[in-house]
Amino acid sequence: MKVLKFGGSSLADSAGFRNVAQIITAQQTRSIITVSATATTTDTLHLFMETKDQTAAMELLAKLFKRHKQLVNELSIKESGSLFGRFEHMELRLINLWDSHHNSTSVDPHLLSEVFSAGEYLSSQLLQQYMSELGFSSHWLDSREVIKASGPILESKANLVASQKAWNAMPLPSNVRFIIAPGFIATHDNSQPCLLGRNGSDYSAAILAHLCNANALEIWTDVSGIYNADPKKITQAKLIDNMSYREAMELAHHGAGVIHPKTIGPVRQKGIPLKVKNSFAPEQEGTVIAPSCSNRAKVKAVSSQHAISLVNISGSYLCDTYGAAERIFGCLARHHISIILISQSSSEYSVCFAIRQQDATVAKQSLQHEFAHELDQHQLDPIDIRANRAIITIVGQGLIHEKGVSSKFLSAISSGGANIEAIAQGSSELSISAVVDQHQLLPAYHRVYAEFFDR
Ligand code: ADP
Repeated sequence: MKVLKFGGSSLADSAGFRNVAQIITAQQTRSIITVSATATTTDTLHLFMETKDQTAAMELLAKLFKRHKQLVNELSIKESGSLFGRFEHMELRLINLWDSHHNSTSVDPHLLSEVFSAGEYLSSQLLQQYMSELGFSSHWLDSREVIKASGPILESKANLVASQKAWNAMPLPSNVRFIIAPGFIATHDNSQPCLLGRNGSDYSAAILAHLCNANALEIWTDVSGIYNADPKKITQAKLIDNMSYREAMELAHHGAGVIHPKTIGPVRQKGIPLKVKNSFAPEQEGTVIAPSCSNRAKVKAVSSQHAISLVNISGSYLCDTYGAAERIFGCLARHHISIILISQSSSEYSVCFAIRQQDATVAKQSLQHEFAHELDQHQLDPIDIRANRAIITIVGQGLIHEKGVSSKFLSAISSGGANIEAIAQGSSELSISAVVDQHQLLPAYHRVYAEFFDR
């Protein structure tokens, strides 16, 4: 068994669906196909829920369904009646959910999960019907039945043990070659729908690969694999033929959007090789990610993240107290705020770390609440959070042991005119990151690329 995942960029229009169907039908082994929503659908669903004006919201929804019905027609799906019936049912359901959301004083994240994952439901149903039309037997699998998850509802983490139990208890039809499953969605501990985080379909595919003990997982996207920089930012970026799980994990964590950061965990546990391939150039080999790799380059890639906030906590309280860090990070963990990097400092007087900008308000409020007494007593300085920051990272196995890598990295950033506000050297010895002002990111990114790869 093999698992293939197709992202929204591969399913942007009817030509994309035709192309994806061709790739699927060329597979020699029984396969599970996980799909994202078609391009821009998830953004439209977010906008639909944010739109308070009923007429405007309904127009957005009607447009979205019109586009999907148009896809059905363009693909010349003859048995379209039942598919249109399911689409209409889904549209009514979304209207009801919009009503409940806008007539309620509180936000129900389970309700939002159902709305935001509607795109995956539509694309997977459409693809399955198209495959039948082409004469290939396929089965639509509701991922919620087998992927069990816990944690924050919109960004849950799979419970692989519970999921494996559900998978083992579920009989799959033996006579079908292709199983088509919507990505992104799961069932939470409380039996309600939940999501696996934005762009979480890669993660869904990795979980399914883990559950069925797949021989391989293939992530099909709009570029030919993992490059040594984002090919949309650096046109001369070079393809990496192979890399280790650890390197891929580090790169994904530090912003290489080509794979979701949680994708590696489930396949790594079972040693399943992962390939990143281009839907628009399927003949190319792509990038292979496996337990170890033959590519011995010390610095494999540069990546970046924007919309970052840098938090600085300082004051005498930090020098005098055991467990201060535990209080800071415990407080953030209780509010489901993840720490992207922690800057090391030899002094105990201050702690500096980076979080996503969208978490900054909650972080400030919760830290102010947690340390109200210390702030009041001036044992801590006012909590300083700087928005509009970006992180540049270089990744590679063993790069930290390579003489001069850190200094070359930092000088390249400075030579682009950027001021380095924090530095973190991963304890995994796989990465070095620097925090800069977001406006200085692009020149710094180009300088770092030139320093390590363009010589
Ligand atoms: P999909 O729609 O298939 O899920 P995404 O748009 O989410 O695809 O991810 C693919 C994009 O990731 C590429 O188009 C590319 O711009 C971006 N990307 C960022 N860093 C890298 C990298 N190091 N290698 C390849 N692609 C990268």
